[in-house]
Amino acid sequence: MSHLAALSKLLGSDASLISDPDITASYSRDQAPFASAAAPFAVLLARSAAEISIAMKYANENSIPVVTRGAGSGLSGGANSTADSLVISLEKMNQILEIDRANQIARVQAGVINLDLDTAAKEFGLAYLPDPASRDWSSLGGNAATNAGGMCCVKYGVTGAHVRAMQVVLASGEIIELGKATKKSVTTYDLLHLFIGSEGTLGIITELTLNLEIRPAAPSTLIATFPSVSKAAAAAVALRQYRPSMLEIVDQTTLKAVEAWHPLGFEVAGSVLIMQLDENHSLCEAALETCKQFDLIDGVYSDDPADATDLIRVRKLAYPALERMGATLLDDVALPITKIAEFVERVEKLSKEVNLTIGIFGHAGDGNMHPTIVHDHGDLAAAERAQQAFGQIVEIAQSLGGTASGEHGIGSIKPGFVTKEISKTVIDLQRAVKKVFDPNSILNPGKKIP
Ligand SMILES: Cc1cc2nc3c(=O)[nH]c(=O)nc-3n(C[C@H](O)[C@H](O)[C@H](O)COP(=O)(O)OP(=O)(O)OC[C@H]3O[C@@H](n4cnc5c(N)ncnc54)[C@H](O)[C@@H]3O)c2cc1C
Repeated sequence: MSHLAALSKLLGSDASLISDPDITASYSRDQAPFASAAAPFAVLLARSAAEISIAMKYANENSIPVVTRGAGSGLSGGANSTADSLVISLEKMNQILEIDRANQIARVQAGVINLDLDTAAKEFGLAYLPDPASRDWSSLGGNAATNAGGMCCVKYGVTGAHVRAMQVVLASGEIIELGKATKKSVTTYDLLHLFIGSEGTLGIITELTLNLEIRPAAPSTLIATFPSVSKAAAAAVALRQYRPSMLEIVDQTTLKAVEAWHPLGFEVAGSVLIMQLDENHSLCEAALETCKQFDLIDGVYSDDPADATDLIRVRKLAYPALERMGATLLDDVALPITKIAEFVERVEKLSKEVNLTIGIFGHAGDGNMHPTIVHDHGDLAAAERAQQAFGQIVEIAQSLGGTASGEHGIGSIKPGFVTKEISKTVIDLQRAVKKVFDPNSILNPGKKIP
């Protein structure tokens, strides 16, 4: 009996097990442009942990690779299927099971979309804070599996800081619970956070208990222009004293791309910082004074929520403006915040060497930069240079004490860089951990660790 027939029999005729190649092909890739992918033999649109358990047990006993898929918004090839794999999609497991106002938690199925939870929490005066730019379509399971970040994470921390407990289906098919709904727990080793950022290589997250916060007040927004990125980056370090709930940077290359599309008046700026404060709004004036120590060209702020949309527009347009110029490769590295200026200077130098536009923007407040390489559509030589530059950017970050990925994950595109920042002993420990959870190496093989 084929694997498809056997699985179909085990799961029952009402299971959504898809084998039509035209449909399964649409489940074979995430949003990473040059990551490899191969057709899965089937896609299971799972409806419950029990169903996943049955499929996993069968896959494990028959050494079938299993690729877990949330919404497929990833940027590292993490959800890309490998040859003859079974893709297990969580998209149908999209129920918010409980919102407990008194304990400030939500219990959700892993396929719930990030923004759907925040919208539901709003009704209770609460908020689910982690805010990846993909929050209107990425899943909470995918967010946990990549430890997704976002703009407010400079103050509130990345996804992992908001996960209290989870249900996981192991490679063996066994269903386990990790963590507690309590705000604090130090009982036994913290296996819960081992699963945060594990990118589908240790098990499938089926349910999450998430922290909800009292909804912060509408923020004040400040925008400041500087003559150079090094001045803006130095100002960003100083501005952290005000506990910003957003602190973003945009470089001149990206500003020019935005100006060419939507003129916003940034043509003379070398760099822009955008900051939000959601607690002490009166500190905006002091923050502006601080900016003056770093050769501020111009700065404005407002506590009117209607103005915020205008003031953060340049940051929101950063990536789409670069996308308009050609094919893009969006990198993701994290650095010590004090190294941002040097990093940007070295990437600008690289841009000249490889003769490609590289716009840089990112989360200045936590050192997470997104250099975006642009090349002409259909120019294969330029595409090749862009791919090499993508790796060189990672190496620049690593040489400055940074890391290969701040939030998008290692996936299938960056395992080769891991050994440049992690010792062999630690890699061996990581492989040993993987073996404990996935002895037959069926879960997302070739991803996350080398
Ligand atoms: C326009 C755009 C903007 C983005 N902005 C941000 C941003 O600001 N911050 C950020 O961090 N990322 C961002 N991303 C990247 C992406 O949205 C995140 O990595 C997101 O967390 C992926 O969620 P997903 O549900 O789409 O997961 P997928 O892409 O489907 O999967 C991502 C990884 O998680 C694994 N996985 C998914 N679900 C589960 C599960 N239930 N159990 C176990 N493993 C699982 C997959 O196997 C894969 O390795 C952006 C992407 C786009 C396209």
